Amino acid sequence: MNLIILGAPGAGKGTQAEKIIAKYRLPHISTGDIFRANIRSGTPVGLKAKGYIDKGQLVPDEVVIELVQGRLSEEDCKNGYLLDGFPRTLAQAQALDKITKIETVINLDVDLSKLLARIVGRRTCPVCNMGTNTAWDSYTKECPKCEVTYIQRPDDTEETVKNRLDVYNNQTVPLIEYYKRAGVLKNVNGMGTVDEVFAGVVEVLG
Ligand code: AMP
Repeated sequence: MNLIILGAPGAGKGTQAEKIIAKYRLPHISTGDIFRANIRSGTPVGLKAKGYIDKGQLVPDEVVIELVQGRLSEEDCKNGYLLDGFPRTLAQAQALDKITKIETVINLDVDLSKLLARIVGRRTCPVCNMGTNTAWDSYTKECPKCEVTYIQRPDDTEETVKNRLDVYNNQTVPLIEYYKRAGVLKNVNGMGTVDEVFAGVVEVLG
């Protein structure tokens, strides 16, 4: 299965991606995660990407495309993969079509007016990477499993998120039409609980 999960920042792509890769046993290729790992270890790609990410802008197409092309050529992608956060522009989607054949694009459909608050409240455990949200009843300052304080992603601040939502509207939304025309788009309602949304994903993937 060669899959893409598409959706606005904060739509729940990462959360659903974790569930999809566990059920369908696919490698999870999240370009955001790859960039964050490169920034942490100070690689040339990380240094190049950091300035864009901190401002909520897209990393240039050629940098991301090269990275994904390299990743997709690895052994574990031979029998399928899930792309999360890529493509984000038409140029990326066209480049991807030259490298591989995408079977299904899951588009998480959410109410855009709710996203700013959702993202600004987002917190992650720095040890186990589990996500939580200050708006949830279950929210506590520390991860109950690792007993460390949750952290906020540096690009989850209000100003950066506004940029990221503008970038999504201007550059990524056209991909919905692109994949609809290609006959591979599946819309899933992204507004329920994690399990409700996942049930919708499973329904379209079979
Ligand atoms: P994410 O974790 O998917 O929200 O990505 C975090 C940031 O990494 C984005 O705001 C971009 O700056 C950068 N990024 C991730 N994926 C891409 C991509 N496909 N194209 C350009 N920039 C990207």
